[in-house]
Amino acid sequence: MMTSVRIALAAALLMGAGQTLAADTAMSKDNPFAQPSSLPYQLPPFDRIHDSDFMPAFAAGMAEQLREVQLIADNAEAPSFDNTIVALERSGRLLSRVSTVFFNLSSSDTNDTRQKIEEEIAPQLSAHQDSILLNARLYARVAALYEQRDTLKLDAESQRLLERYHTRFVRAGAQLSEAQKDQLRKLNSELSELTTRFDQNLLKETKAGAVVVDKAEDLAGLSEGEIAAAADAAKARGLDGKYLITLQNTSGQPAEQSLRSRALREKLYRASVTRANHGGDSDNKAVIARIVLLRAQRAALLGYGDHASYVLEDETARTTAAVNKMLGQLAPAAVANARREAADMQKLIDADRGGFKLAPWDWSYYAEKLRKARYDFDESQMKPYLELENVLQNGVFYAANRLYGLSFKERKDLPVYLPDVRVFEVFNADGTPLALFLADYFKRDSKRGGAWMNEFVSQSALFGTKPVVVNNLNIPKPPAGEPVLLTFDEVTTLFHEFGHALHGMFSNVQYPYFAGTNVPRDFVEFPSQVNEMWATDAQVLKNYARHYKTGEAMPQALLDKVLATQKFNQGFATTEYLAAAILDQRWHQLPIAQAEIKDVNLFEAQALQKAGVAMSQVPPRYRSTYFAHVFAGGYDAGYYAYIWSEVLDADTVQWFKENGGLKRENGDRFRSLLLSRGGSTDAMTLYRAFRGRDPDIKPLLERRGLDQPAPKSKARKKVQ
Ligand SMILES: [Zn+2]
Repeated sequence: MMTSVRIALAAALLMGAGQTLAADTAMSKDNPFAQPSSLPYQLPPFDRIHDSDFMPAFAAGMAEQLREVQLIADNAEAPSFDNTIVALERSGRLLSRVSTVFFNLSSSDTNDTRQKIEEEIAPQLSAHQDSILLNARLYARVAALYEQRDTLKLDAESQRLLERYHTRFVRAGAQLSEAQKDQLRKLNSELSELTTRFDQNLLKETKAGAVVVDKAEDLAGLSEGEIAAAADAAKARGLDGKYLITLQNTSGQPAEQSLRSRALREKLYRASVTRANHGGDSDNKAVIARIVLLRAQRAALLGYGDHASYVLEDETARTTAAVNKMLGQLAPAAVANARREAADMQKLIDADRGGFKLAPWDWSYYAEKLRKARYDFDESQMKPYLELENVLQNGVFYAANRLYGLSFKERKDLPVYLPDVRVFEVFNADGTPLALFLADYFKRDSKRGGAWMNEFVSQSALFGTKPVVVNNLNIPKPPAGEPVLLTFDEVTTLFHEFGHALHGMFSNVQYPYFAGTNVPRDFVEFPSQVNEMWATDAQVLKNYARHYKTGEAMPQALLDKVLATQKFNQGFATTEYLAAAILDQRWHQLPIAQAEIKDVNLFEAQALQKAGVAMSQVPPRYRSTYFAHVFAGGYDAGYYAYIWSEVLDADTVQWFKENGGLKRENGDRFRSLLLSRGGSTDAMTLYRAFRGRDPDIKPLLERRGLDQPAPKSKARKKVQ
């Protein structure tokens, strides 16, 4: 998933605000953000950046953009595309430089200082943005140009830029009265504080929720490596001699799959699902209630019935009815499949004379047992063949070479923000330089959960910039000297995030507004999901799945089992995903009159119940209090986007298969018609140009086993 692509963008794109700061916070000339970086690809000079540089650079960046924007608004000349729209596009360079670096680091390596800066800067950036988008003189120029758009003789990308700016101003409230604009500014400012607080509470609670275990015996079922990692994690927190199981951001926790102690599984599960939901300073319930109310108020102010209607209007889905219809269609079959899976597991428990009813903390443990029984396959047999370096070089990079002719050269001479971060220079088949790719793969307490792609520099012909993109994952770091062995889920995530990276790196547009992943949210997951297909492609799999000690290829029998088990446990995966997507819609489809929710947990339970996805053993993938995507991450009313874009994904996978799979011709077509175009053309127009017709939902239904009685096929849904 890639929540945070948007976080940086919100700040970088256009917006800004903070007049009051400018005067007395002069930025020193040697502030590393003062000038564009002189490093290759304008890679940020991480070795020269200190936390003390951020606030002065933010202040100077907002002040600079306000001056630039005021000049545009006050221009005595009649508005032209160049003196208004392109001028806006050129404004705020300094703010963009500091924002992208800051929001990347506050996601992947935060600390107390950065959290304080984030709290302080978020409402300022929101106000800065408002001060541009609610500037009446500026909007008058944009609106005048928009009225003349068909007579300006603009090229297609420029015409679209004009239309997008107009839409953006209108959606931000440019047509409101001055009194309404004041109200809007207040709502935006409070919302930015609340979403920051949500995120910070969650980070704190995720760290605090880690489960301490006294004796290694209690960890029976985990591998030696996992036990050693738990010992290391405990040691890092001063708990020498103990073991620590840290939490991932989802409801389910990976260790539940193998821990034999049912009591410990339960403890871990409860620690996970009660995050930010047990009172105290970092409880998120009141924060959620307030966010939901303010979003409903803002939607009403802007003339929409609810927040989701406002959000969806600008997505490819367009309406809440379209989203509800799709989620509603999929839910019954998914839940029926999950119930069937639960019954199969209950049989296993009963055969063992377990004497208990399958609980949510038992699910992945018994699913794994069932998988072993059914396919004679154990995930731990596979891990030695999934070593990170091999998967990256001979899997992810190899597939990109076969499809697009890319080659990769590691650059150890360039500065990074932490020693674990790696930098690769990426070249086209003809040897021309394309981009820098940064890989930050390991989990740490200072990093947000999940996986995502983000940009440090986005491509544009206007500025002559090439992309610098980063992939973040949360792979547990093994003890020093041990190999990094992945689960198959992590392998898929690696391919997924690299799909986003390709979207960013192949960008070939004029305006930064349209660079790479700047497409509708319900379209942005499509290229990354397509890239997951190469993780299970026979030729690619053969190339990367090699034993880390002997270099031997994964035996064909095991390989076949890997592929067969891709079709396993899909009722669960689809149900937990749909439950979260539906929950998101219910929160954000509340009209203002009903948006004062007193009891967050009760609302959640009733929403799931009403939608028919309440299953005691299958909690939503995220419960509200740790659903960062929608309360902090920019996916509000947008979590449905994963399955929405999976329709396009599954249909495209079908296209690759029909056309001979892994070959240059196919990759080049995908690149030229779709990946390189960013947001410069309407998303569904791009899709039709590539596919030759409208998307077909059938491949998705088949993949997820939703087209017939029994679960059929693979549905591994990544978040971000
Ligand atoms: Zn993604």
